[in-house]
Amino acid sequence: MSKVVIITGASRGIGREIAKKLAIKGYKVVANYNKSENEINNLKKELNEQGIDIECIQGDVSKREDTKKIINFTLSKFNKIDILINNAGIYQFKEFTQISDNDWDYMINTNLNSVFYMTQEACKDMIKNKNGCIINMSSIWGLVGSSCEVHYSVSKAGIDAMTKALAKELGPSNIRVNSIAPGIIDTDMNKELNSEDLKNIKEEIPLDRIGKVEDIEKCVEWLIEDKYTTGQIISINGGWVI
Ligand code: NAD
Repeated sequence: MSKVVIITGASRGIGREIAKKLAIKGYKVVANYNKSENEINNLKKELNEQGIDIECIQGDVSKREDTKKIINFTLSKFNKIDILINNAGIYQFKEFTQISDNDWDYMINTNLNSVFYMTQEACKDMIKNKNGCIINMSSIWGLVGSSCEVHYSVSKAGIDAMTKALAKELGPSNIRVNSIAPGIIDTDMNKELNSEDLKNIKEEIPLDRIGKVEDIEKCVEWLIEDKYTTGQIISINGGWVI
């Protein structure tokens, strides 16, 4: 049977591209969305027109109960989970002194606790099957820190620490755990940047361009196929952070 993959936050951006390409490659895709029902239905329709189907499941991954729902849905449809891609995330630009307790909790719940919940729920099945691949979407800011993005940077650094620790714990169960740490990728997450901002950023990137969702998706495909890489933080950033 084809491999079963869950992708969180698959309604747009990087998650959507991963869901689309893996579905086209023949994986059984479970695409999670939270509020963007129209967008996920558009993705399903686009794939259906090519004779390909995906399963879509609503769930707020910052809530433990919702992550259980996503995992139970997947097991009821396919009876196993081969790959988990923890992609859902939010971003906020705010001076450190202005970050409220609510901002902090919202960021950590959405970006970091979600990875804890999803991974803990999914890896029970993976451990049983002695097979699994977990890919966490972190960020260059988790590696080097970003001004006015302290809570975002902390959430992503936490993901990377979880990746390394879990790779050690789950390796003996034949489960690989890796992070992808993108630089700047052209998605809605960066829609507040104007053309001047983007030009300035581009000038700092040795490969002289903003990343595309395809750049990240290709790394995901490689990590899925690979058999001997675990506990790594792979930064796809055009040389912006080396
Ligand atoms: P995006 O804003 O286009 O997509 C994020 C997705 O996550 C959306 O579909 C959104 O609905 C979903 N999401 C948010 N909160 C959720 C929740 N509670 N439950 C379920 N889904 C939820 O952004 P993107 O650029 O595609 O980002 C994908 C991942 O890549 C994020 O984790 C982000 O931090 C990371 N990343 C992006 C960039 C970039 O420049 N775009 C850089 C570094 C890291």
